[in-house]
Amino acid sequence: MAAKTLEDIPGVGPAIAEKLREGGYTDLMVIAVASPKDLAETCEIGEKKAMDIIEGAKLCADIGGFETGDNILERRKAVTKLTTGSKAFNELLNGGLESQAIVEFFGEFGSCKTQVCFQLAVNATLPEEKGGLDSDVIIIDTENTFRPERIIQMANFLGVDPDYTLRRIHVARAFNSQHQILLVDKALELAQQKKIRLMIVDSLTSHFRAEYLGRGALAERQQILNRHMHDLLNFATLNNAVIAVTNQVAAKPDAFFGDPTRPIGGHIVGHTATFRLYLRKGKGGKRIARLIDSPNLPEGEAVFMVTEDGIKD
Ligand code: ADP
Ligand code: MG
Repeated sequence: MAAKTLEDIPGVGPAIAEKLREGGYTDLMVIAVASPKDLAETCEIGEKKAMDIIEGAKLCADIGGFETGDNILERRKAVTKLTTGSKAFNELLNGGLESQAIVEFFGEFGSCKTQVCFQLAVNATLPEEKGGLDSDVIIIDTENTFRPERIIQMANFLGVDPDYTLRRIHVARAFNSQHQILLVDKALELAQQKKIRLMIVDSLTSHFRAEYLGRGALAERQQILNRHMHDLLNFATLNNAVIAVTNQVAAKPDAFFGDPTRPIGGHIVGHTATFRLYLRKGKGGKRIARLIDSPNLPEGEAVFMVTEDGIKD
């Protein structure tokens, strides 16, 4: 994987990159530690823009460093929650899906991972007092399963304008894993123009699964997937966004992937996702979500329904 350049910083195109280089800001580390005022003056840009560039460079250069607890608390105060549409499901998540986090939905084919994503997309466009994020949505669709018709049904049920809802949902098909990774950069660009507080990657792992076959490819796949997950987490932090990703588990045992109930991406996806939810079918059309792994919530289950109108109790 090539080293990152100035152009990898979100919002930095060729023109600004040139100004940065001329001003002596030749690499990411230099920018990451620059003062916003100096950078703004040298490059003749606004101080807000300079701060964004510095933040972006920090993330690209991957310098985290230490942060005091009060700073983290301050950032966490901006966390809001996105409703799932089901009371029980929300309770399992202590109110809904947290922003600044990655939520992974894993389950077999047909376990309603995509349906949940549709509902989240519609809900995110709602005002905050209705459990939404009052924002536009990005969907990276790797399996060509986005269906505007379903969005219309769900929007109608909620009494919101379906056309307006559809206009706020930005869908890109990812044709392979490399394209999928690049779309996260595109998403960062779009997020500079529009408020985007929900990004969905459905499915996170299907291209990786198809492309990196055999034992020999495993290490490389995990490494690239790991970087992709970190890019997603950066997006979540920069935009106070929820990242919802899906991950299919094999329906039958698989010599290569092993245990069918273990999601692919294994440790890498699991450790970077903040919340993991296992979805499965229950009796009588019921669906069950099981919270597997959370830094601050107990494990548990919620029962919900998927109907024509969307996710319900
Ligand atoms: P996954 O993404 O986990 O493979 P999906 O989200 O595509 O699964 O789930 C498909 C299921 O969603 C269907 O089996 C059906 O139960 C449910 N579903 C899809 N469309 C509708 C609808 N219009 N009304 C009710 N249920 C639906
Ligand atoms: Mg699906």
